[in-house]
Amino acid sequence: MCFFQFTARRLVSQAHCGLKASSSKKQKFCLEMARPSSNMADFREVFAKAKHIAIITGAGVSAESGVPTFRGAGGFWRKWQAQDLATPGAFARNPSRVWEFYHYRREVMLSKHPNPAHIAIAECEKRLSKQGRSVVVITQNIDELHRKAGTRHLLEIHGSLFKTRCTSCGNVAENYKSPICPALAGKGAPDPDTEDAAIPVEDLPQCEEDGCNGLLRPHVVWFGEALDPGVLTAVEKELDICDLCLVVGTSSVVYPAAMFAPQVSARGVPVAEFNMEQTPATNRFRFHFPGPCGTTLPLALARHETEIIS
Ligand SMILES: [Zn+2]
Repeated sequence: MCFFQFTARRLVSQAHCGLKASSSKKQKFCLEMARPSSNMADFREVFAKAKHIAIITGAGVSAESGVPTFRGAGGFWRKWQAQDLATPGAFARNPSRVWEFYHYRREVMLSKHPNPAHIAIAECEKRLSKQGRSVVVITQNIDELHRKAGTRHLLEIHGSLFKTRCTSCGNVAENYKSPICPALAGKGAPDPDTEDAAIPVEDLPQCEEDGCNGLLRPHVVWFGEALDPGVLTAVEKELDICDLCLVVGTSSVVYPAAMFAPQVSARGVPVAEFNMEQTPATNRFRFHFPGPCGTTLPLALARHETEIIS
């Protein structure tokens, strides 16, 4: 996390000022000159001309649908937070406990729905595609709410709660079963005094490929694991062609936007942030719209008067 923050700040400030080795005075002047605009009419002018829009989304978008992240103050499942359980080591030590955690998260999603931000993004993609314009969503969220809202062009850089991967043969499969296996039925309660279900490995979710029967794991990127190179390549390609970038529900100094927004900005492409608060990086981008993205995005992505609908 710190690495990304540091890298992003450095890259962004260099990119914005056009400096390789920075002279601190010049850089300071440059940064002070840059102030983001919160003028929606100006954003809408840029939006109306954009042909390839990349939308990077983070936890804030899911939070507005009431999706728990198990991170930060109060974000506990039993005695643990995501960083304690979403690791290869935790799964190797106690696959039953980790599966209970993910089973709970899958089941919670049955009662969660896309919010106006997800819907505005999906509707924008559908509308613009009829005009020969593209929208891609690059998300760290694993809850599939973008998919549920109707987003088609979706790059899930952290995978999905509703995909499994075989620890034996590597097969990746969609899986929407509830419960995911009989032994997990009724398990996964989040209360701190709940006992581990201690399910034997052979009763945990198993690979259904012919003759494999390997232990399945959630197809999500855990702490300490690398992002899927195939997904990263696809992200790079999209960022190379986008002519407008939105950063929604995550700040531009925090991963994953910190990895991506600087390279977009370096090409002189407008970046617009939609999140609750300003951050040190906010000043380096063209636009910043504070507040819940469920309120700001529908206005930002609504049909522009110049759009011709066939
Ligand atoms: Zn398998």
